[in-house]
Amino acid sequence: MALDTARFLADLDTLRRIGAYKTGVHRPTFSPEDMESRRWLAARMEEVGLEATIDGIGNVFGRHKGPGPHLLAGSHLETQNYAGWLDGVLGVVAALELARAGLPVDVCAYCDEEGHWGDFIGSKSLIGAFSEADMDAARNKETGEPLRARLEQVGLAGRERIVIDPRRYKGALEMHIEQGTQLESAGLRIGVVTGIVGIRQFRITITGQQDHTGGTTMRERKDAGLTAVRLLGMIDQEFPRVCAERSVWTTGRIALEPNTVAIIPGKAEILFSFRDISAEVMDRMEACLRRVVQESNRRERCPAVLEPIGHSKEALSDPGIVRAFSDAAEKFCPGAWQPMPSGAIHDSQILAAKLPVGMLFVPSIGGISHHWSEDTKREDLELGMKVMEEAARSFLAGKN
Ligand SMILES: [Zn+2]
Repeated sequence: MALDTARFLADLDTLRRIGAYKTGVHRPTFSPEDMESRRWLAARMEEVGLEATIDGIGNVFGRHKGPGPHLLAGSHLETQNYAGWLDGVLGVVAALELARAGLPVDVCAYCDEEGHWGDFIGSKSLIGAFSEADMDAARNKETGEPLRARLEQVGLAGRERIVIDPRRYKGALEMHIEQGTQLESAGLRIGVVTGIVGIRQFRITITGQQDHTGGTTMRERKDAGLTAVRLLGMIDQEFPRVCAERSVWTTGRIALEPNTVAIIPGKAEILFSFRDISAEVMDRMEACLRRVVQESNRRERCPAVLEPIGHSKEALSDPGIVRAFSDAAEKFCPGAWQPMPSGAIHDSQILAAKLPVGMLFVPSIGGISHHWSEDTKREDLELGMKVMEEAARSFLAGKN
């Protein structure tokens, strides 16, 4: 029962063929290809001696039958549309390989991390944070099809949903591709995730006066678009004073009404968000945003209203898991790894509400992900697997 990285790579290649698109994969949640990949995984789990279940929300769960202490390990099987072969799948196959190598691991493919039907419905369900009412309300983001209808169609309706008992686990591990360029550009091969960033999202609505672009003098007009642009410029000037090194902020959408050439915009709607790993930094950024809006309202003719529309809480990795990953990385690739935050959200962040979590990153070639050309060097995949196994063993043994 030794680790076999060739077997691990072969499994990744097999899953790559289910829903293959160019060099990537198209496997949206609950598509025929996605269901095929779930059944494939359940069969592999049974072969390893795990008790496999595809539950009532599509989570594929393989329960270790022996004594603990146990680890939970996994990631997701579905992909974004016409996307990459490693995003998610890597962590699932790595978890399976841990089980094959004889580790007391429950393996899970958390359903729909990619959000075709909601936000982290699988991992939320697994920790008991997705109610029957949430199930009723969930819809496909593109088509509006109810989740219940699709579960019926794929034969999962009415099945029990697995909820984990946190006391069963010493921690939860997830291996994932970086989906950025930090490792590659630093010439590094492993990233030990120190935490997953939090996100805060806001809508800023600016009210002006819709009017004729010729007849209305510059002195008279209330141009909501212009106020929006100045306000965003102010944010860009002020945020660097309060943020941390890896903070990021994004204006994802600016919508003007009526949005045409000969009419002064009567309304501007901005969707704005920022991310950081530290709640303290996030609080500073939010206070700064409020000050900027206040200052805009003092200076401008068009009032702005700030409204929070969503957030996810930052989650720090467990220090023991971070040490285990770091020691293992130093053993297998001395000097070629780094601690780093995850700028993207993963199921581990949801699990962190109940369990100590940790994540391991391998480099993404060119940083590309959520695209069919996504790739990672095979030697980096193998290295990641070795680090994962070594870390899982030493963490379970309490050496960290
Ligand atoms: Zn992913």
